[in-house]
Amino acid sequence: MTFSIHGLAVARGIAMGRAVLVASSRVDVAHYFINSNQIESEIQRVVHARQCVIDEIHKLHQSLPKEAPPELAALLDVHMMLLQDEMLASGINTWVRERLYNAEWALTSQLEVVARQFDEMDDPYLRERKGDLEQVVERILRHLKGDPTVLDHKIKSVPKQVGQQQELISEDQMEVPLILVAHDLSPADLLQFKQSVFTGFITDVGGKTSHTAIVAKSLDIPAVVGSRTASQLIRQDDWIIIDGDAGVVIVDPSPIILDEYSFKQRQAQVSRERLTRLRHRPAATLDDERVELLANIEMPEDTKSAMSVGAVGIGLFRSEFLFMGRDGQLPDEEEQYKAYCAAVQGMNGLPVTIRTVDVGADKSLDRTMKDEAHLNPALGLRAIRWSLADPSMFLTQLRAILRAAAKGQVNLLIPMLAHKKEIVQTLSLIETARHQLDAMGEVYGPVKVGAMIEIPAAAISAKMFLEYFDFLSIGTNDLIQYTLAIDRADEQVAHLYDPLHPAVLRLVADTISACNAAGKAVSICGEMAGDPTLTRLLLGLGLRSFSMHPTQILSVKQEILRADTQLLQNWAQEVMHSNDPSVMVELYNQDK
Ligand code: PEP
Ligand code: MG
Repeated sequence: MTFSIHGLAVARGIAMGRAVLVASSRVDVAHYFINSNQIESEIQRVVHARQCVIDEIHKLHQSLPKEAPPELAALLDVHMMLLQDEMLASGINTWVRERLYNAEWALTSQLEVVARQFDEMDDPYLRERKGDLEQVVERILRHLKGDPTVLDHKIKSVPKQVGQQQELISEDQMEVPLILVAHDLSPADLLQFKQSVFTGFITDVGGKTSHTAIVAKSLDIPAVVGSRTASQLIRQDDWIIIDGDAGVVIVDPSPIILDEYSFKQRQAQVSRERLTRLRHRPAATLDDERVELLANIEMPEDTKSAMSVGAVGIGLFRSEFLFMGRDGQLPDEEEQYKAYCAAVQGMNGLPVTIRTVDVGADKSLDRTMKDEAHLNPALGLRAIRWSLADPSMFLTQLRAILRAAAKGQVNLLIPMLAHKKEIVQTLSLIETARHQLDAMGEVYGPVKVGAMIEIPAAAISAKMFLEYFDFLSIGTNDLIQYTLAIDRADEQVAHLYDPLHPAVLRLVADTISACNAAGKAVSICGEMAGDPTLTRLLLGLGLRSFSMHPTQILSVKQEILRADTQLLQNWAQEVMHSNDPSVMVELYNQDK
């Protein structure tokens, strides 16, 4: 039966394929296709791992002391029964034989199927056995990991090697695209999917500007977040469509709906291709105001997509992504230096703005950090606060950035400042890093130093910031979160997250004016900069530098080419002074 689920649109486009349900705790399980000649050995890997767990439990059972409570033996019996359950074994075989999933993926896929059946049971005792099943699967996974034959499969989520597989695999289903469905995915989890077999993804939680959504944009695959119940309503292997523009997921679509979406998919492809013609056009308005279009990136290799859409530099390199998913092992100076140099080289002489590490809130370094998170992490030890709390880690990063600045134009950007004392401390540590490099005889280059305006207190004190910094960059994602007291990662309050709230507009406009009056550069690097429906308003407010995800650049450029800033100024002031800016902007966008 066809039904639809509504969530938040975060990464545009349409994807159609089969659902792959992944439990949030298991997203780091390897997902890749095997070749058909590996089917038997892959099944043997599971059989072997399962047998090891059976032996383990058997031994445990035998070694139970006489005085052990009888529940313990009963529990082991349950585990043994679950391990030997035919449904688990036969399901795994099917995933491996028919879909060519690797052993770990097949095991977790079948876990999701069986767990769903437990969820649906009336008897509470039986329902609770789901936890036992998960423990048993966890044990098998551990054995699979330790299995020496796993060595040649250790790459996580390797891309589907279509050419190679097509010769070996005749089954139609291998041509079917796959869509990842999970309750939650952290930004670090998502990074693992950068080169993955998935062509779209859906999560139950997350807001429009959550970092998971931001990484989704960088994957450039259709995505819907904040769909609340998707991972419960969608079953393993269901056919689904993601409409990433509308934020809708259609489950079990009828042939007519499939046709309709295939048509939409082709149309979207045609408009994308049309936009690529703008790549080499300078971004200038009708009244010849030049506008700088910069890219936001997470990894040095993202510079390729920035260059491919004609970005004139990197306005925001979110360096924290180099620090994530490493089990607490932070990258050392050399590793960071290489990554920053790679970004500088990738941009071929164009400026690269490296933001110092911004972890905390919804960007945990790894799962442990998430678990230890405080009740209010967005207001806690995050971004520059985290860096200043660990000067040696911060100095390591500063040295690496300063050294990379010898290879090309680098700007240094500091996130989440609010207090003068933080500014003074930060600038003094930058000086210390230079002295350290002098003492080591290391070469380094000049950098412009900028501050992010992400906290209302900072926006209101923009003049004070300008006394210390060469440029400001407005991080509207956080500025909105902190101005409206809306957790940007919480889908339950996503409807209140409003870039056009008069208070937000006032803070943005005043910061732009303060910079323009002082003759200092200002840009917006939050998601507002990449929203083409807001381009004219921001131009009217005096903004001339926008930094956004590469996929947005050409759409925003199209708006700039059609705009006249002379005409926009008065209108932008009216919008700002209205009680209902969103209605005015919507009307304007309809009329143009
Ligand atoms: C912002 O807050 O607008 C921003 C660009 O930083 P991030 O999204 O990484 O918090
Ligand atoms: Mg921010």
